[in-house]
Amino acid sequence: MDELTERVTELDGKPFHARVAREALLKGARTYEEMTSLPADLRAALTSEIPLLSSEVRHSTRASDGATKLLLGFAERDEGSDEVETVHIPPHNPKSPKGATLCVSTQVGCPVACPFCASGLAGLIRNLEAHEIIEQFLRGIELGPIGRAVVMGIGEPLLNYTNVRAALDVVNAELGLGARKVTLSTVGFPDRVREIATTKPPFQLAVSLHTPFDAERGVLVPAMRGVPIDDILAAGDDWYRATHREVTYEYVLLGGHNDSPEHARELGRRLRGRRATVNLIPWNPLTPMEGDPEVPRYRRPAPDDVAGFQADVQDAGTVTTIRWSRGLESDAACGQLRLRRAASKRAD
Ligand code: SAH
Repeated sequence: MDELTERVTELDGKPFHARVAREALLKGARTYEEMTSLPADLRAALTSEIPLLSSEVRHSTRASDGATKLLLGFAERDEGSDEVETVHIPPHNPKSPKGATLCVSTQVGCPVACPFCASGLAGLIRNLEAHEIIEQFLRGIELGPIGRAVVMGIGEPLLNYTNVRAALDVVNAELGLGARKVTLSTVGFPDRVREIATTKPPFQLAVSLHTPFDAERGVLVPAMRGVPIDDILAAGDDWYRATHREVTYEYVLLGGHNDSPEHARELGRRLRGRRATVNLIPWNPLTPMEGDPEVPRYRRPAPDDVAGFQADVQDAGTVTTIRWSRGLESDAACGQLRLRRAASKRAD
């Protein structure tokens, strides 16, 4: 807002004109010409000097259940290699007043390089700017009102936290999504989690755990090798003490890898007595394609195995939910659509 006010004043506008333009944009205006309460000269100057949006929808896939995956590119950035995914997931009951859930990305690519995840297979290209994160919300709202958001798209949000926080503060203050309506998912970083917990974060926390065993976590979440799970869980406890919001531990289920009864028991044992829940995510297969940096060899567990794992964790005393992904018939897995586009670009 400060930056916009300064630039509007440079173009001979008044500070309140910046506020008018911003509110119009957040309410759905897509050209300055629509903002008829601004002086005509200023509208013309703004049109030539300050692009209203920098994102463009380069591709959009709609699944049979109504979820839409958008591939967003940013002006003057390369097509193919510099795009992110945003997913708009309408409520199960279309008449529900709750609004859709929006899944947003925070980086182009990801440096964490979990071997089962498409987002980091080709490494990190760059961090998204705060406005590029906000624009994902504006593009999402074009598809229908949003009642919840999950920061679970491409990228590791705590490695781009300044921009992510700036964006989520705007989403909270100006788009009206309260802290309990937004969930940020991270691989952990205990010190950062503790520090952020003291700053009244406008979101709930989810931590990707994926295994209760330290050695295996170093393989599944390579950037966290050497960070003990105990430390991650202790940071989660500190988060609860500071925010009074329970942590969700995410656990991607990789058939034959981390879905044994020993895993379930140890996971349950470690979480017992903590203010936390587990969210199991049966792995969404990546469709291998020529030119992929590496083709991961995992399998999605059968529904019965998922239910058995859930029962074992619950028996050990921890509330456990299952997330069967919706709306993701093709290029389902997070980051896969972007990867496909980058690969076809290379082939051209
Ligand atoms: N970088 C953040 C956000 C990632 S997306 C994080 O790691 O938490 C949210 C969740 O989806 C993470 O737990 C991630 O590990 C998981 N995930 C990634 N690829 C997946 C796939 N192909 N199938 C199922 N879950 C996946």
